[in-house]
Order: sequence, then structure tokens, then C-alpha cells
Amino acid sequence: MKTVLRNELLANPVYVVPDSHGLIKLDAMESPFAWPGELAVSWQAELANLQLNRYPDPMPELRAQLCTELRVQDAQLVLGNGSDELIQLLCMAVAKPGACVMAPVPSFSMYRIIAQACGLSFIGVDLQADFGLSVEAMLAAMAAQQPALIFLAVPNNPTGNLWDEAELQTIVEAATGLVVIDEAYIAYSPRHYAAWLGRYPHVVILRTLSKVGLAGIRLGYMAASAEVVQVIERIRLPYNINALTAVTARFALQHKQHMQQQAQQVLLWREQLYQQLLTLPAVRVWPSHTNFLLLQLQQHDASLMVTQLHQAGILIKKLHGSHALLSQTLRISVGLLEENQRLVAILSALLAQPGIKM
Ligand SMILES: *Cc1c(COP(=O)(O)O)cnc(C)c1O
Repeated sequence: MKTVLRNELLANPVYVVPDSHGLIKLDAMESPFAWPGELAVSWQAELANLQLNRYPDPMPELRAQLCTELRVQDAQLVLGNGSDELIQLLCMAVAKPGACVMAPVPSFSMYRIIAQACGLSFIGVDLQADFGLSVEAMLAAMAAQQPALIFLAVPNNPTGNLWDEAELQTIVEAATGLVVIDEAYIAYSPRHYAAWLGRYPHVVILRTLSKVGLAGIRLGYMAASAEVVQVIERIRLPYNINALTAVTARFALQHKQHMQQQAQQVLLWREQLYQQLLTLPAVRVWPSHTNFLLLQLQQHDASLMVTQLHQAGILIKKLHGSHALLSQTLRISVGLLEENQRLVAILSALLAQPGIKM
């Protein structure tokens, strides 16, 4: 068996999803909202009409809704089982021998994990200390390595910031391969780049329903030139979106206003939480254009803090250890008002304990 398995993959960590039962869940950038009763009832009525003995249909209405949102033709749209699957399809589409993928780091960890799983090499170009793009370093790496794919999360995860638009444009215009602009946090961000699809045939726009209340259904979508989509369509599995997901997404998009209102509420709570965290001692917190906040402990140990918060019933994400720029950092998704308040109270009490020498 040893000779047929790709044992080099054992160097990669397994993506572990922690058990969140009974905890306040602030670790995964989910929306904290459930649908209100009357919406849930109409949704269930739609599900009841599904013929589960049949393969999913081609989802014309859902596709039309997403094409309208992105202002693209049907031939430019691909749906994925989460945007993770679309990242995988894009990697598979360019996985010629010797090809490589590039992204600024720290950024979304799946870019590296998926690229390597597809046999591509991954080049991470460090962000600057203020989390801005290192444009010169990126241009140099691009000239030397000619990446087939560049991933740019805008706003970036886990740093929460937007990049300078002129710098973004410089990268896009210098690229010889595809440039994926990953807009997972578009609901919380003042900027979007779907208009660049018309200007640059090598730009791909990636979006998802995961950060606006539907992480459980796994629906991502991408728009690109028809030429790129034609190749992706030849590697996409025929029924990658299941019928329950398609019906639920179509229903949710018919009530888009409701999702937008929830996102607006999360934005207000994010600003409140940001202001409260700013007042805590020995903590640095960065402004955010997403539904999470990045924190750096200046006198306490991040791993211990995550354990102590867990013991107090709150699940957050430790980033310390994943990149030098993320030393002693934590990522906190914005929850419901009372969840955010509980987090601040417990964090504040834990920070009052003696810290460590750094
Ligand atoms: C959460 C996230 C995604 C993953 O989205 P799914 O659609 O749930 O697979 C993609 N990109 C970024 C930057 C993210 O933060």
C-alpha cells in the first residue's frame, strides 16, 4: 500500500472541526442568525415538494438569480459545493506538471491545502506588517514563477482588511495566469469587483452563501470568462450541488433582503464589539471589513486563552502558530449581541489575570 499512496500528503495537517455542542460558537465566521419561524415554515413547504428519488435538476432559477447578482451570462457561472470546491476545480483546471499557485500570506488556508492536494506547488508571499500587499515582492515572484493561479481574498481572511485598489489592479494587470478575487465577505465589505470580469478575461470572482446564514447548505459560486468555465465544466462532477441545497438557496435568494438586513445587524454589532475590545488592556484589535475581528494578546498566551475561553463555554479560533505576522493572535466571529457581551466579559476577566513575559 505504501507504494501507491501519496504519502507526501501526510505532511499536511488534517482539517479538524471542533465539537461546538453547548458552546457559544464564534470560531467559523458563520452568521449567528436562524431564520424566523414564518420563513422556516415556507422553506419546509418547498422542501416537501422535492422528489428525492430523482437526481437534481439543472437549477435554472437559482442560476438565473446568481447571474443577475453578478451581471454575467449563464455560460460564465459555475456552482460549487462551497467555494472550497470551486477552489479545488480551479486548481485541477491548471494542474499541469510544474504549475504553481500563489497567494499573499497569511490568507485563507485552503488555498495552500487544496493547491498542494492537486499536486501544485504553492507560493505564499508575505503581507507587510500592516497587512497590506507586498506589491514589489508579488510582482517579482510572479515574474520568476509565472503562477497559473493567484488567489486574492478581498477582504482578506484572517486579517479582515481590504487591499489598496490600485495595488490590486497592478497585480491583476501583471498576471499571466488566472486571478481569483475571493469575495466571501462581500456582505460585510464596501467594495466588490464583479465589474472587473468585463475588463479582464483572466479574472475569476468567487462568492459563497456561507458567511450570510447558509454555511450548512454548502453553496459557492464563481463567475469567469466562458473560456475558463468551459474547462471547469469538464471536470466538475455532474451533480455536485444536491437538490436540498439548490431549493434552499433559491428560496433564500428570494428573501435576499432578509439576509441583507441580518448582515447589516452583524455590521453594527461588529463595530460595537470592536469598540469594546479596544478598551481592553494588553490587547491589539484591528479594524475589519468582515464579520470577524482579529485580536493580538500583548501579555497573554493565545493558546492558553483559547483553552480558558473554551472552559468558559466560548469557541474562538487560535491563529498563533500559522504565520509569523499572527503571533499571539485570535480570530473572533461576530455573534449575537448577548454572545458578544459574554465574550467581552470573560475575556476581560481572563486578561485581568497575570500574563506572561513576552
Ligand atoms: C470562509 C471562506 C471561504 C469558504 O467558503 P465555503 O463556501 O464555505 O467553502 C472561501 N474563502 C474565504 C476567504 C473564506 O473566508
